[in-house]
Amino acid sequence: MATTALPGTGLLKGLGVTIKHLFKRPSTLMYPHERSDLAPRTRGVIALMDENCTVCMLCSRECPDWFIYIESHKETVPPAKEGGRARTRNVLDRFAIDFSLCMYCGICVEVCPFDALWWSPEFEYSEYSMDGLLHEMDKLREWADTVPAPPPLEEGALMPAEVADAIAKAEKDRELEAAKQEEAVQAKAAPEEAAGPKQGKAATKDFEVKAGEIDQETFDKLIAEGKSERIARSKAKAAYVKKEKARMRAEAEAAEAAAPAAPAPKPAEIHVEAGQIDQETFDKLIAEGKPERMARAKAKAAYVKKEKARLRAEAEAAEPAAATGSTEATEAATATEPAAVDAPAEAAEPAEPAKKLSDMHVEGTGEIDQEVFDKLIAEGKSERIARSKAKAAWIKKRKQQMLDEEGGA
Ligand code: SF4
Ligand code: SF4
Repeated sequence: MATTALPGTGLLKGLGVTIKHLFKRPSTLMYPHERSDLAPRTRGVIALMDENCTVCMLCSRECPDWFIYIESHKETVPPAKEGGRARTRNVLDRFAIDFSLCMYCGICVEVCPFDALWWSPEFEYSEYSMDGLLHEMDKLREWADTVPAPPPLEEGALMPAEVADAIAKAEKDRELEAAKQEEAVQAKAAPEEAAGPKQGKAATKDFEVKAGEIDQETFDKLIAEGKSERIARSKAKAAYVKKEKARMRAEAEAAEAAAPAAPAPKPAEIHVEAGQIDQETFDKLIAEGKPERMARAKAKAAYVKKEKARLRAEAEAAEPAAATGSTEATEAATATEPAAVDAPAEAAEPAEPAKKLSDMHVEGTGEIDQEVFDKLIAEGKSERIARSKAKAAWIKKRKQQMLDEEGGA
Protein backbone atom coordinates (compact mmCIF):
# COMPACT_ATOMS: atom_id res chain seq x y z
CA MET A 1 0.00 0.00 0.00
CA ALA A 2 1.48 3.29 -1.05
CA THR A 3 2.29 5.80 1.72
CA THR A 4 1.12 9.37 1.12
CA ALA A 5 3.60 12.17 1.82
CA LEU A 6 2.70 14.68 4.41
CA PRO A 7 1.44 17.90 2.90
CA GLY A 8 4.20 20.58 2.65
CA THR A 9 7.14 18.09 2.53
CA GLY A 10 8.05 18.99 -1.09
CA LEU A 11 8.07 22.67 -0.22
CA LEU A 12 10.44 22.06 2.67
CA LYS A 13 12.77 19.98 0.46
CA GLY A 14 12.90 22.77 -2.10
CA LEU A 15 13.62 25.35 0.58
CA GLY A 16 16.39 23.09 1.90
CA VAL A 17 18.14 23.06 -1.51
CA THR A 18 17.80 26.83 -1.75
CA ILE A 19 19.25 27.34 1.72
CA LYS A 20 22.13 24.93 0.95
CA HIS A 21 23.15 26.86 -2.19
CA LEU A 22 22.87 30.20 -0.42
CA PHE A 23 26.15 29.46 1.36
CA LYS A 24 28.02 27.89 -1.64
CA ARG A 25 30.30 29.70 -4.20
CA PRO A 26 28.35 30.29 -7.43
CA SER A 27 29.56 28.33 -10.48
CA THR A 28 28.83 31.22 -12.86
CA LEU A 29 30.75 34.47 -13.29
CA MET A 30 29.46 37.97 -13.81
CA TYR A 31 30.88 38.24 -17.37
CA PRO A 32 32.12 40.71 -18.66
CA HIS A 33 32.91 42.14 -15.21
CA GLU A 34 34.52 38.91 -14.19
CA ARG A 35 36.48 36.55 -16.44
CA SER A 36 37.57 32.99 -15.96
CA ASP A 37 41.13 31.78 -16.54
CA LEU A 38 41.12 30.07 -19.90
CA ALA A 39 43.18 26.99 -20.67
CA PRO A 40 46.36 27.80 -22.60
CA ARG A 41 45.23 25.68 -25.56
CA THR A 42 41.84 27.36 -25.84
CA ARG A 43 40.77 27.71 -29.48
CA GLY A 44 39.84 31.37 -29.49
CA VAL A 45 41.27 32.85 -32.67
CA ILE A 46 44.03 31.86 -35.13
CA ALA A 47 47.13 34.04 -35.03
CA LEU A 48 49.63 34.36 -37.88
CA MET A 49 53.38 34.86 -37.50
CA ASP A 50 53.92 35.98 -41.07
CA GLU A 51 57.74 35.98 -40.80
CA ASN A 52 57.56 32.17 -40.50
CA CYS A 53 55.21 31.66 -43.43
CA THR A 54 56.88 30.34 -46.60
CA VAL A 55 53.67 30.38 -48.67
CA CYS A 56 53.68 26.60 -48.95
CA MET A 57 49.83 26.71 -49.14
CA LEU A 58 49.42 23.60 -46.99
CA CYS A 59 47.01 25.27 -44.58
CA SER A 60 44.92 26.66 -47.41
CA ARG A 61 44.67 23.26 -49.08
CA GLU A 62 43.88 21.38 -45.88
CA CYS A 63 41.23 23.75 -44.57
CA PRO A 64 37.92 21.83 -44.93
CA ASP A 65 36.05 25.02 -45.78
CA TRP A 66 38.67 26.39 -48.18
CA PHE A 67 38.56 29.94 -46.98
CA ILE A 68 42.17 30.70 -46.07
CA TYR A 69 43.12 33.23 -48.73
CA ILE A 70 46.81 33.46 -49.62
CA GLU A 71 48.44 35.67 -52.27
CA SER A 72 52.15 35.99 -52.93
CA HIS A 73 54.77 36.91 -55.50
CA LYS A 74 58.27 35.63 -56.30
CA GLU A 75 61.41 37.61 -55.61
CA THR A 76 65.00 36.98 -56.61
CA VAL A 77 67.44 37.12 -53.75
CA PRO A 78 71.23 37.25 -54.07
CA PRO A 79 73.14 33.99 -53.56
CA ALA A 80 73.91 32.99 -50.00
CA LYS A 81 77.58 32.46 -50.84
CA GLU A 82 79.82 34.33 -53.22
CA GLY A 83 79.82 32.70 -56.63
CA GLY A 84 76.53 30.88 -55.97
CA ARG A 85 73.34 31.10 -57.97
CA ALA A 86 70.67 33.70 -57.28
CA ARG A 87 67.60 32.16 -55.62
CA THR A 88 63.90 32.89 -55.83
CA ARG A 89 61.59 32.96 -52.85
CA ASN A 90 57.90 33.52 -52.26
CA VAL A 91 56.92 36.75 -50.59
CA LEU A 92 53.59 36.81 -48.77
CA ASP A 93 51.26 39.58 -49.99
CA ARG A 94 47.98 38.54 -48.44
CA PHE A 95 46.88 36.05 -45.79
CA ALA A 96 43.27 36.16 -44.63
CA ILE A 97 40.98 33.85 -42.62
CA ASP A 98 37.22 34.19 -42.69
CA PHE A 99 36.11 33.46 -39.11
CA SER A 100 32.46 33.60 -40.11
CA LEU A 101 33.01 30.22 -41.79
CA CYS A 102 35.78 28.73 -39.63
CA MET A 103 34.72 25.71 -37.63
CA TYR A 104 37.74 25.86 -35.32
CA CYS A 105 38.90 22.38 -36.24
CA GLY A 106 42.55 23.45 -35.89
CA ILE A 107 43.75 21.51 -38.95
CA CYS A 108 45.51 24.56 -40.38
CA VAL A 109 47.46 25.08 -37.14
CA GLU A 110 48.39 21.40 -37.03
CA VAL A 111 49.59 21.12 -40.65
CA CYS A 112 51.67 24.31 -40.82
CA PRO A 113 55.24 22.94 -41.00
CA PHE A 114 56.83 26.30 -40.15
CA ASP A 115 54.93 27.25 -36.97
CA ALA A 116 53.34 30.24 -38.65
CA LEU A 117 49.83 29.58 -37.27
CA TRP A 118 48.97 29.49 -33.58
CA TRP A 119 45.89 29.36 -31.43
CA SER A 120 45.24 32.37 -29.25
CA PRO A 121 42.69 32.15 -26.39
CA GLU A 122 41.18 35.53 -27.37
CA PHE A 123 37.54 35.12 -28.31
CA GLU A 124 36.06 38.61 -28.13
CA TYR A 125 35.99 39.59 -31.77
CA SER A 126 32.29 39.44 -32.53
CA GLU A 127 31.03 41.86 -35.15
CA TYR A 128 27.67 43.30 -36.21
CA SER A 129 28.44 42.37 -39.82
CA MET A 130 29.90 39.14 -41.21
CA ASP A 131 32.34 41.14 -43.31
CA GLY A 132 34.17 42.14 -40.15
CA LEU A 133 35.03 38.52 -39.44
CA LEU A 134 37.35 38.35 -42.42
CA HIS A 135 40.68 38.94 -40.67
CA GLU A 136 43.48 40.11 -42.94
CA MET A 137 47.20 39.63 -42.39
CA ASP A 138 47.76 42.67 -40.14
CA LYS A 139 44.85 41.67 -37.87
CA LEU A 140 46.06 38.05 -37.71
CA ARG A 141 49.54 39.38 -36.87
CA GLU A 142 48.10 41.37 -33.98
CA TRP A 143 46.59 38.20 -32.55
CA ALA A 144 50.10 36.72 -32.41
CA ASP A 145 50.83 39.03 -29.47
CA THR A 146 48.15 37.27 -27.44
CA VAL A 147 49.46 33.73 -27.99
CA PRO A 148 50.55 32.40 -24.57
CA ALA A 149 54.13 31.32 -24.10
CA PRO A 150 54.63 27.54 -24.25
CA PRO A 151 54.71 25.79 -20.88
CA PRO A 152 58.18 25.22 -19.42
CA LEU A 153 59.94 21.96 -20.18
CA GLU A 154 59.79 19.15 -17.69
CA GLU A 155 62.86 18.72 -15.57
CA GLY A 156 65.54 16.76 -17.43
CA ALA A 157 63.76 17.06 -20.79
CA LEU A 158 65.89 17.65 -23.89
CA MET A 159 65.66 21.06 -25.45
CA PRO A 160 63.83 20.99 -28.82
CA ALA A 161 66.32 20.78 -31.69
CA GLU A 162 65.12 24.02 -33.31
CA VAL A 163 65.48 25.93 -30.02
CA ALA A 164 68.98 24.53 -29.49
CA ASP A 165 69.83 25.49 -33.09
CA ALA A 166 68.48 28.99 -32.61
CA ILE A 167 70.50 29.47 -29.42
CA ALA A 168 73.67 28.15 -31.12
CA LYS A 169 73.06 30.43 -34.12
CA ALA A 170 72.50 33.47 -31.90
CA GLU A 171 75.72 32.70 -30.04
CA LYS A 172 77.63 32.30 -33.29
CA ASP A 173 76.23 35.60 -34.59
CA ARG A 174 77.29 37.32 -31.39
CA GLU A 175 80.81 35.91 -31.72
CA LEU A 176 81.01 36.99 -35.36
CA GLU A 177 79.82 40.45 -34.43
CA ALA A 178 82.44 40.67 -31.68
CA ALA A 179 85.12 39.47 -34.11
CA LYS A 180 84.04 42.10 -36.66
CA GLN A 181 84.22 44.83 -34.07
CA GLU A 182 87.64 43.67 -33.01
CA GLU A 183 88.75 43.64 -36.64
CA ALA A 184 87.50 47.19 -37.08
CA VAL A 185 89.46 48.30 -34.03
CA GLN A 186 92.62 46.63 -35.37
CA ALA A 187 92.07 48.18 -38.80
CA LYS A 188 91.92 51.61 -37.18
CA ALA A 189 95.11 50.94 -35.28
CA ALA A 190 96.91 49.94 -38.49
CA PRO A 191 96.15 52.66 -41.09
CA GLU A 192 97.99 50.85 -43.84
CA GLU A 193 95.56 47.97 -43.43
CA ALA A 194 92.55 50.26 -43.17
CA ALA A 195 93.49 51.63 -46.60
CA GLY A 196 92.64 48.17 -47.97
CA PRO A 197 94.80 45.63 -49.71
CA LYS A 198 96.99 47.08 -52.45
CA GLN A 199 96.71 45.81 -55.98
CA GLY A 200 98.49 42.52 -56.53
CA LYS A 201 98.96 41.83 -52.84
CA ALA A 202 97.38 38.90 -51.10
CA ALA A 203 94.36 39.67 -48.90
CA THR A 204 94.52 38.71 -45.20
CA LYS A 205 92.16 35.81 -45.76
CA ASP A 206 94.64 34.26 -48.23
CA PHE A 207 97.08 33.36 -45.44
CA GLU A 208 96.87 29.96 -43.82
CA VAL A 209 97.20 29.98 -40.04
CA LYS A 210 97.55 26.84 -37.97
CA ALA A 211 94.38 26.39 -35.94
CA GLY A 212 94.29 25.40 -32.28
CA GLU A 213 96.36 28.21 -30.74
CA ILE A 214 94.73 30.92 -28.66
CA ASP A 215 95.59 34.52 -27.93
CA GLN A 216 96.30 34.35 -24.20
CA GLU A 217 95.82 38.07 -23.67
CA THR A 218 92.31 38.04 -25.15
CA PHE A 219 91.48 34.88 -23.22
CA ASP A 220 92.55 36.36 -19.87
CA LYS A 221 90.67 39.58 -20.62
CA LEU A 222 87.42 37.76 -21.41
CA ILE A 223 87.70 35.52 -18.37
CA ALA A 224 88.27 38.62 -16.23
CA GLU A 225 85.12 40.11 -17.79
CA GLY A 226 83.15 37.11 -16.54
CA LYS A 227 82.69 35.34 -19.91
CA SER A 228 82.37 31.57 -19.89
CA GLU A 229 85.54 29.61 -20.64
CA ARG A 230 84.07 28.18 -23.84
CA ILE A 231 83.25 31.60 -25.28
CA ALA A 232 86.55 33.09 -24.09
CA ARG A 233 88.48 30.23 -25.70
CA SER A 234 86.69 30.51 -29.04
CA LYS A 235 87.14 34.28 -29.15
CA ALA A 236 90.78 33.98 -28.17
CA LYS A 237 91.26 31.47 -31.01
CA ALA A 238 89.73 33.92 -33.49
CA ALA A 239 91.92 36.73 -32.13
CA TYR A 240 95.03 34.57 -32.53
CA VAL A 241 94.20 33.71 -36.15
CA LYS A 242 93.55 37.35 -36.95
CA LYS A 243 96.77 38.55 -35.36
CA GLU A 244 98.80 35.88 -37.13
CA LYS A 245 97.27 36.78 -40.49
CA ALA A 246 97.99 40.48 -39.92
CA ARG A 247 101.61 39.62 -39.07
CA MET A 248 102.04 37.43 -42.15
CA ARG A 249 100.47 40.05 -44.34
CA ALA A 250 102.83 42.74 -43.00
CA GLU A 251 105.77 40.43 -43.75
CA ALA A 252 104.52 39.77 -47.27
CA GLU A 253 104.11 43.48 -47.92
CA ALA A 254 107.59 44.20 -46.65
CA ALA A 255 108.99 41.48 -48.94
CA GLU A 256 107.04 42.87 -51.87
CA ALA A 257 108.32 46.39 -51.24
CA ALA A 258 111.88 45.04 -51.42
CA ALA A 259 111.19 43.28 -54.75
CA PRO A 260 112.22 44.86 -58.13
CA ALA A 261 109.96 47.32 -59.91
CA ALA A 262 106.72 46.12 -61.47
CA PRO A 263 106.85 44.79 -65.05
CA ALA A 264 105.33 46.53 -68.05
CA PRO A 265 101.54 46.89 -67.89
CA LYS A 266 99.50 43.87 -68.99
CA PRO A 267 97.01 44.32 -71.83
CA ALA A 268 94.17 44.07 -69.27
CA GLU A 269 95.59 47.09 -67.41
CA ILE A 270 95.65 49.32 -70.48
CA HIS A 271 92.51 51.34 -70.98
CA VAL A 272 91.15 51.74 -74.52
CA GLU A 273 88.20 53.98 -75.34
CA ALA A 274 85.35 51.74 -76.53
CA GLY A 275 83.08 52.52 -79.45
CA GLN A 276 85.49 52.16 -82.38
CA ILE A 277 85.54 49.11 -84.60
CA ASP A 278 88.27 47.38 -86.57
CA GLN A 279 87.08 47.98 -90.13
CA GLU A 280 89.16 45.16 -91.57
CA THR A 281 87.63 42.58 -89.22
CA PHE A 282 84.17 43.98 -89.80
CA ASP A 283 84.47 43.75 -93.61
CA LYS A 284 85.88 40.25 -93.37
CA LEU A 285 83.01 39.01 -91.21
CA ILE A 286 80.38 40.67 -93.37
CA ALA A 287 81.99 39.04 -96.43
CA GLU A 288 81.77 35.70 -94.60
CA GLY A 289 78.01 36.22 -94.28
CA LYS A 290 77.92 36.95 -90.53
CA PRO A 291 75.03 39.16 -89.31
CA GLU A 292 75.91 42.83 -88.92
CA ARG A 293 75.32 42.88 -85.14
CA MET A 294 77.76 40.04 -84.58
CA ALA A 295 80.31 41.44 -87.03
CA ARG A 296 80.17 44.83 -85.29
CA ALA A 297 80.63 43.30 -81.83
CA LYS A 298 83.58 41.21 -82.98
CA ALA A 299 85.12 44.14 -84.80
CA LYS A 300 84.82 46.23 -81.64
CA ALA A 301 86.60 43.55 -79.64
CA ALA A 302 89.29 43.27 -82.33
CA TYR A 303 89.82 47.02 -82.25
CA VAL A 304 90.22 47.06 -78.47
CA LYS A 305 92.66 44.13 -78.63
CA LYS A 306 94.76 45.71 -81.34
CA GLU A 307 94.83 49.07 -79.59
CA LYS A 308 95.89 47.46 -76.33
CA ALA A 309 98.68 45.58 -78.06
CA ARG A 310 99.84 48.77 -79.74
CA LEU A 311 99.77 50.78 -76.51
CA ARG A 312 101.60 48.05 -74.70
CA ALA A 313 104.28 47.88 -77.37
CA GLU A 314 104.70 51.64 -77.07
CA ALA A 315 104.92 51.45 -73.28
CA GLU A 316 107.49 48.67 -73.51
CA ALA A 317 109.52 50.59 -76.06
CA ALA A 318 109.41 53.73 -73.90
CA GLU A 319 110.46 51.86 -70.75
CA PRO A 320 114.12 51.05 -71.63
CA ALA A 321 114.57 54.57 -72.97
CA ALA A 322 113.27 56.04 -69.73
CA ALA A 323 115.38 53.63 -67.68
CA THR A 324 118.68 54.42 -69.38
CA GLY A 325 117.85 58.07 -69.82
CA SER A 326 119.91 58.01 -72.99
CA THR A 327 119.87 61.14 -75.07
CA GLU A 328 120.07 58.99 -78.21
CA ALA A 329 116.57 57.71 -77.72
CA THR A 330 115.28 61.24 -77.23
CA GLU A 331 117.09 62.42 -80.33
CA ALA A 332 115.77 59.52 -82.37
CA ALA A 333 112.26 60.29 -81.19
CA THR A 334 112.53 63.96 -82.05
CA ALA A 335 114.15 63.09 -85.37
CA THR A 336 111.16 61.02 -86.40
CA GLU A 337 108.72 63.86 -85.72
CA PRO A 338 109.53 66.10 -88.68
CA ALA A 339 109.51 63.07 -90.95
CA ALA A 340 106.02 62.32 -89.73
CA VAL A 341 104.92 65.85 -90.55
CA ASP A 342 106.54 65.77 -93.97
CA ALA A 343 105.33 62.34 -95.02
CA PRO A 344 102.20 61.30 -93.09
CA ALA A 345 101.58 58.30 -95.30
CA GLU A 346 105.02 56.91 -94.48
CA ALA A 347 104.69 57.71 -90.79
CA ALA A 348 101.46 55.75 -90.56
CA GLU A 349 103.14 52.62 -91.86
CA PRO A 350 105.37 51.80 -88.86
CA ALA A 351 102.21 51.59 -86.69
CA GLU A 352 101.01 48.70 -88.87
CA PRO A 353 100.47 45.18 -87.45
CA ALA A 354 104.20 44.34 -87.51
CA LYS A 355 104.50 45.70 -83.95
CA LYS A 356 101.39 44.06 -82.55
CA LEU A 357 101.66 41.11 -80.23
CA SER A 358 98.20 39.94 -81.20
CA ASP A 359 99.34 39.42 -84.79
CA MET A 360 102.06 36.98 -83.81
CA HIS A 361 101.23 33.33 -83.82
CA VAL A 362 102.88 30.91 -81.43
CA GLU A 363 102.10 27.23 -81.42
CA GLY A 364 101.28 26.19 -77.83
CA THR A 365 103.26 23.00 -77.22
CA GLY A 366 102.61 22.76 -73.50
CA GLU A 367 105.56 24.83 -72.28
CA ILE A 368 105.00 26.95 -69.23
CA ASP A 369 106.75 29.91 -67.71
CA GLN A 370 108.23 28.20 -64.66
CA GLU A 371 108.83 31.46 -62.82
CA VAL A 372 105.18 32.52 -63.11
CA PHE A 373 104.05 29.02 -62.17
CA ASP A 374 106.18 28.96 -59.00
CA LYS A 375 105.03 32.44 -58.04
CA LEU A 376 101.35 31.55 -58.37
CA ILE A 377 101.77 28.30 -56.45
CA ALA A 378 103.56 30.24 -53.69
CA GLU A 379 100.59 32.64 -53.62
CA GLY A 380 98.32 29.70 -52.89
CA LYS A 381 96.66 29.45 -56.33
CA SER A 382 95.47 26.02 -57.42
CA GLU A 383 97.80 24.05 -59.70
CA ARG A 384 95.31 24.13 -62.58
CA ILE A 385 95.06 27.92 -62.54
CA ALA A 386 98.79 28.38 -62.03
CA ARG A 387 99.55 26.07 -64.97
CA SER A 388 97.13 27.79 -67.35
CA LYS A 389 98.44 31.24 -66.40
CA ALA A 390 102.02 30.09 -66.74
CA LYS A 391 101.24 28.73 -70.22
CA ALA A 392 99.75 32.08 -71.23
CA ALA A 393 102.81 33.86 -69.83
CA TRP A 394 105.13 31.62 -71.85
CA ILE A 395 103.22 32.29 -75.09
CA LYS A 396 103.31 36.01 -74.42
CA LYS A 397 107.02 35.96 -73.74
CA ARG A 398 107.62 33.93 -76.90
CA LYS A 399 105.59 36.35 -78.97
CA GLN A 400 107.51 39.27 -77.55
CA GLN A 401 110.75 37.48 -78.35
CA MET A 402 109.65 36.91 -81.96
CA LEU A 403 108.58 40.52 -82.20
CA ASP A 404 111.97 41.68 -80.98
CA GLU A 405 113.74 39.37 -83.44
CA GLU A 406 111.63 40.74 -86.32
CA GLY A 407 112.40 44.28 -85.23
CA GLY A 408 116.12 43.46 -85.05
CA ALA A 409 116.06 41.91 -88.52
S1 SF4 B 1 40.51 25.96 -37.96
FE1 SF4 B 1 39.25 27.13 -39.38
S2 SF4 B 1 40.71 27.97 -40.83
FE2 SF4 B 1 41.75 26.34 -39.75
S3 SF4 B 1 41.47 24.52 -41.03
FE3 SF4 B 1 39.82 24.51 -39.51
S4 SF4 B 1 38.18 25.55 -40.55
FE4 SF4 B 1 39.99 26.04 -41.71
S1 SF4 C 1 50.99 26.09 -43.87
FE1 SF4 C 1 52.07 27.62 -42.66
S2 SF4 C 1 53.82 28.19 -43.96
FE2 SF4 C 1 52.37 27.12 -45.29
S3 SF4 C 1 51.15 28.77 -46.16
FE3 SF4 C 1 50.06 28.08 -44.34
S4 SF4 C 1 50.76 29.44 -42.73
FE4 SF4 C 1 52.20 29.66 -44.40
